[in-house]
Amino acid sequence: MSRSSPRVGFVSLGCPKALVDSERILTQLKVEGYAIVPSYRDADAVVVNTCGFIDAAVQESLDAIGEALHENGKVIVTGCLGKRADLIREAYPDVLAISGPQDYASVMRAVHAALPPKHDPFLDLVPPTGIKLTPKHYAYLKISEGCNHRCSFCIIPSMRGDLVSRPVDAVLIEAEKLVAGGVRELLVISQDTSAYGVDLKYASREWRGRSWRTRMTELCAGLAELGVWTRLHYVYPYPHVDEVMPLMAAGRLLPYLDIPFQHASPRILKLMKRPGNIDKTLERIGRWRKAVPELTLRSTFIVGFPGETDAEFENLLDFLREARLDRVGAFAYSPVDGAKANDLPDPVPEELKEDRLEQFMAVQAEISAARLQRKIGRRLTVLVDRVDADGAVARSTADAPEIDGVVRIRDGRRLQPGTFAEVIVEGADAHDLEARCVAAD
Ligand code: SF4
Repeated sequence: MSRSSPRVGFVSLGCPKALVDSERILTQLKVEGYAIVPSYRDADAVVVNTCGFIDAAVQESLDAIGEALHENGKVIVTGCLGKRADLIREAYPDVLAISGPQDYASVMRAVHAALPPKHDPFLDLVPPTGIKLTPKHYAYLKISEGCNHRCSFCIIPSMRGDLVSRPVDAVLIEAEKLVAGGVRELLVISQDTSAYGVDLKYASREWRGRSWRTRMTELCAGLAELGVWTRLHYVYPYPHVDEVMPLMAAGRLLPYLDIPFQHASPRILKLMKRPGNIDKTLERIGRWRKAVPELTLRSTFIVGFPGETDAEFENLLDFLREARLDRVGAFAYSPVDGAKANDLPDPVPEELKEDRLEQFMAVQAEISAARLQRKIGRRLTVLVDRVDADGAVARSTADAPEIDGVVRIRDGRRLQPGTFAEVIVEGADAHDLEARCVAAD
């Protein structure tokens, strides 16, 4: 163990179940490089695993918390008495955190907040940011798992269950670590980013000495504090999406929304059992663009959904022409094993599906090309992804990695991947921009 490892004292009270909880927490502390020490004096913080079974056990636990606070000062409380947090807070308002039994994740979060783990490059096999499959300068930040919706073409809820959000402090601490490790762009992902925190009733958590709600807007405000690009994916057009517009307008959140609309016909959306209401969508898009003129909108659509009539497909094309989205992906509907939509009547013949997909993409290609043309002559900030003999390949705020276009910088051979540059746009096609470098990080 390195001598600079943070040191944790541990008081374990209660029954064998509590003992097993203590063993698990101690194991995790050791795995993460914390030293376990036997005295209050040697510890940087103390975890007290409490019991709340009978009055005498409650009193013993409260006394142990009091002693640890008196002898050490930094105390994290967990275990059965943690279920009665009010009682503990009333007696000892200064404890750092309180969690219930078997809540190892909350204990570790509290330990991380009180004593950030020290990374020793000679001893630790895993970097502080964990193992990443993305380039060093961008990272996906998963904020929840599962989904509360039941879209008829999707089997994700049956595979991953209902929405389970990560508490906001856990997400913000992970984001902080990623940024400290060199990440310049955070890509927020989930099945439904707008629903973030619903399952936790938007519980408040502490981060950087302030209280934050586990909710999309508050999460965005927290991520904005980190001073890097933050991009939102899989946002559903619920009313509270309007709340992030001021952050975008102030340049604190990337002016980019990835909203999978999937269709524009109210009847098809109903058959799809999609969340959100399409009726006022065009109006809302108009308002968003007014508030954030730089806003880039990306979406995905399904054409040829069972029962889609010619008129409904035309309805979709009309929506596309009016909404003038910047980036669009589309798929011809294909049944997924186990999806409810497989039982719907009137499947669209394969040939017709392909024909509609082609028409759809042709309409969108014109729109995308026109929107990119408007950028010619403008100065943009870009993040460099890679450099090769032909120059640099970068992305602007309008381009998510892998799914959107890129900005090619012919004279960018001397730029470094993972740095920002200023460019002037000189050309555009239906997907990508050509640009000249005018300043680098
Ligand atoms: S398509 Fe998305 S919103 Fe619908 S059920 Fe699947 S994961 Fe949830």
